[in-house]
This record gives sequence, structure tokens and C-alpha cells, in this order.
Amino acid sequence: MRDRFGREIDYLRISITDKCNLRCKYCMPGDIESLPMREILTYEEIACIAGAAAECGIKKIRITGGEPLVRKGCCKLIGMLKAIPGIKEVTLTTNGILLEELLDELCLAGIDGINVSIDTLDPGRYKDITGYDELDRVLRGLDRAYELGIRVKINAVSVDWPLFEKGGPDKEEDRFKDAYDLVGLSRDRNIDVRFIEMMPIGSGKDFQAVSHDLLIPAVTGRYSGIIRDENRHGNGPAIYYRIPGHKGSVGFISAIHGPFCDHCNRIRLTSQGYLKSCLCFDTGVELKSILRRDMTDNERAEAIRSGIRDAILCKPKAHSFNRAEKISEKHAMSAIGG
Ligand code: SAM
Ligand code: SF4
Repeated sequence: MRDRFGREIDYLRISITDKCNLRCKYCMPGDIESLPMREILTYEEIACIAGAAAECGIKKIRITGGEPLVRKGCCKLIGMLKAIPGIKEVTLTTNGILLEELLDELCLAGIDGINVSIDTLDPGRYKDITGYDELDRVLRGLDRAYELGIRVKINAVSVDWPLFEKGGPDKEEDRFKDAYDLVGLSRDRNIDVRFIEMMPIGSGKDFQAVSHDLLIPAVTGRYSGIIRDENRHGNGPAIYYRIPGHKGSVGFISAIHGPFCDHCNRIRLTSQGYLKSCLCFDTGVELKSILRRDMTDNERAEAIRSGIRDAILCKPKAHSFNRAEKISEKHAMSAIGG
């Protein structure tokens, strides 16, 4: 269905857990108490909402978290969602730690695409950012998924880490070194490497985003013959470039400094069952209480559909990430799912 601004909303992101096996500094620093399981939607409840969402025009679903692969039975859920009439695509966003061991199950469940989050190819910096020395394992999972023919994308958050954390001298080259290294992954693999501007949500508020006004010219300036790729690459607001001699593409999701909201097509379900209208604000509809209310299945389905329509209709025209006083979202990104 369309929202008040004429945007077709056909994409639902679902966070299935607030737990994670990494501790990225900008997302889940330190010890975070996870929610009791009764607070989290069951897979049956998620499938019930997804079914109602499909009836409201949702066609694509992305599973996220926390780290979705740490929740037991994640692949079973993917199979359940794939079986819903009207759902054409079920994809996953993961940190990749458990990817290698779950790939066969994911394939069997019919996964349509996997986004792997990797912010750096430097093992020491990876450990510094995520708290764990696991870069090799993530890269093995990424390569295996690619070899199996799964559509793979890389997501890297652009954070302006203080130069001393990069361990290098204070040269401009160092500032974008992680990005330059990651772009290299698109040379021999037909994958999209995408950079995402850090958003001031949760612990992200404590870090400085690298403005894409700086990153885009820094990356594109390195490659002669680089051209804008006008083809659609999926559901998102990324702007893509093609580099001569590279099989894959490089994308920029400029959440803060770019045209981001005009083509917004999504709503987000938190692991606790709150359907969010926009990343930046806390507006939305609490669906868990509707799911758990005593009523007939038909009444419940109608109440959920009505809640989904309300969430779509209260989508704002645009976010306000560049005006801190306007941001009403209080949750961590790990609770929302990115
Ligand atoms: N654990 C999974 C992962 O890391 O891919 C899925 C959840 S994670 C919250 C989804 C994405 O959000 C990751 O790519 C992560 O880097 C990104 N993210 C986390 N905090 C962010 C922030 N403040 N601004 C922009 N992206 C953020
Ligand atoms: Fe975990 Fe993903 Fe957040 Fe990193 S970004 S802490 S992997 S949820």
C-alpha cells in the first residue's frame, strides 16, 4: 500500500533477536542485558504479522537483529516466511560469524540474498571494532555464500574513527583506508560493496560519521573511468558506481547527507513486536499486545492488518538525523535491526 506521500511500502525488515555474538563499538558496546524470551516474538507470531503484512502489500522481507543467526531455528523461520503467499523475497543481514556453518540450511530454506556486515579488512581493527578476532571466519562464510551463487552484499558503516585507533600516521589516506580495502572485494567478485553513513541512534550517537560528501569523492577519485550505475540493485536507497575491471559495484547509502527518504519503501518490526514507521522516530504501532490478546484468529488478523496500515500511514516525509533534538528513537540499533 502507499503511504501519505505516495510511496509504495512493500518491504518489511524484521529483527528476530536483540542478542548478538559481537560487540561492535557503535552498536552494542560492553555488557548489554538481553530481553527475556517471553518479551520476544515467537516465530509463529512473526509469521502471523508477516502474513498480515503480505495482505497489506509487503512483498519483500529482510531478517535482521541483533545477530539473527544466533537465534535457534532462524532457517526454519525463513522457510515459514518464504511459504507466505505474496512474499517474493526473504533476505538476511548478518555479521557473518555463523554464516559458514549455516549456509547449507539457509540455502535449503530458500534464502534470496545475504548482506554481510564488515567494516574493515584489517584483522586487528576488526577485533578492535567488534571485540572479536573473527574476520577470517566471516570472510570464509562470505566466499562460500558467493560460491554457492547466493546474492551477497557487503555493508560497511562509515565511522570517522580517530586516526590513532587506526594505528597509522595522521595522513588523509589512512582516514579512508578501510573503505579503499573493502572496495577491493568487488574486483574479483560480482558483489555490491556498500558504505552506510553512521546514524546517531543508540551508541552510534557517541561516534562521528564519515560524511559521504567526503567519502564518495575520496573513493570515486581513485578510479579513472568510474561511472554511476543507474541499474536498480534491490530495495534500498544506495547510489551505485561501477569501476572498470571490477566485477561488482560500489554503493553509498547516505543516510544523513544524501537523498534518502523520497523513495523509502520500508517499515521495521522490532524483536519485541513494535512496528516502526521510520528509523529516526519512535512512532509506530505495538503489535505484540494485539497478537497476545484473547480474540478469534480472524479478529486478530484484522487487528494486525489495521495496525500495519496505521504504521504505514504515520510514516513521516523524511528523517531528521541532522537535527539531534528531533530524533525521538531511543532504542539501540541492535533492537531495531538497522
Ligand atoms: N548483526 C547483524 C549485522 O551486523 O549485520 C544485523 C544487525 S546490525 C544492527 C545491521 C546493520 O546496522 C549492520 O550493518 C551495522 O553495521 C549497522 N549499524 C549498527 N549501528 C548503526 C548506526 N548507528 N548507523 C548506521 N548503521 C548501523
Ligand atoms: Fe551485533 Fe550487528 Fe550490532 Fe555488530 S552491528 S553488535 S554484529 S548487531
